[in-house]
Amino acid sequence: DRLALVNAPVVPGALADGTPVPLLANLGSAEHADAAAELGAEGVGLFRTEFLFLDQALAPTVEQQRAHYEKLLNAFPGQKVVVRVLDAGADKPLAFLNDAHEDNPALGLRGLRALRASEDILREQLTALAQADAATDADLWVMAPMVSTVEETKYFMAIAAEYGLKTPGVMVEVPSSALLADRVLAHAGFASIGTNDLTQYTLAADRLLGSVGAFQDPWHPAVLRLVQLVGEAGQHHGKPVGICGEAAADPLLAVVLVGLGATTLSMSPSALADVRHSLQQYTLDDARRIAAAALAADGAAEARAAATAATTPEM
Ligand code: PEP
Ligand code: MG
Repeated sequence: DRLALVNAPVVPGALADGTPVPLLANLGSAEHADAAAELGAEGVGLFRTEFLFLDQALAPTVEQQRAHYEKLLNAFPGQKVVVRVLDAGADKPLAFLNDAHEDNPALGLRGLRALRASEDILREQLTALAQADAATDADLWVMAPMVSTVEETKYFMAIAAEYGLKTPGVMVEVPSSALLADRVLAHAGFASIGTNDLTQYTLAADRLLGSVGAFQDPWHPAVLRLVQLVGEAGQHHGKPVGICGEAAADPLLAVVLVGLGATTLSMSPSALADVRHSLQQYTLDDARRIAAAALAADGAAEARAAATAATTPEM
């Protein structure tokens, strides 16, 4: 009956051939963790810590952060929770990290660059994360935003290791990191592709500017080719490659991303059910064939049309 259906456990994300594709949640606050778990999130693929402190003039204390992180980790016992260190700048300015005026903040001192310039703030965040990790049972992974060089990758791996944080990785959301993914993943424990920024920087179109909004389409084959490079590098090094941008919430694009080598998908919890259902319709071979059709297209609209056509194999 209906009630039984509502209470039935949600099955884990998987393709039709049984290939697991863990489906994770993007969260900006621990408040939404229980709702995400109820919608079948198998963990958290992106916890945006900067959302906790957007209106603060001063950097949060270790204690203040630790309370937030413990609450989050306690909602996912035994499950993977990927926490991103502060991604300040451009669309998410933090008063205590972005105090200088910049004409082009999207190309400025943001993400890991800003944290590195105020390393004490990064160290306090890593301290709070390590304390929360020790006090809870979730499987905590940490990652750095806006990493654009192999040198930055090595920097973050080294500093996270100082705090005993187990699985540090990097976001791939700048084309330079995708193009050098084979080198980045020689050092990073995993990659998580942020398709929102990766699209913005690949198409040179401000993600917040309506007049160029049509360019902000992750179906663009230029973006898909970068995702493929990261997927191949992940396979080569035996390291996970997640997707945590909005692209993962598009049910057909999610199939394409898995076909390009993504091993986990993270999205707004409201998108989980549709993506889970879509993945169940295709095998890994199907996903690769659908991805190949999209990759061969000239533009975003053509890629979507080609992928759609490829979902029905020719007679
Ligand atoms: C992204 O850029 O795709 C991403 C997931 O990070 P954010 O949207 O928070 O910049
Ligand atoms: Mg981003």
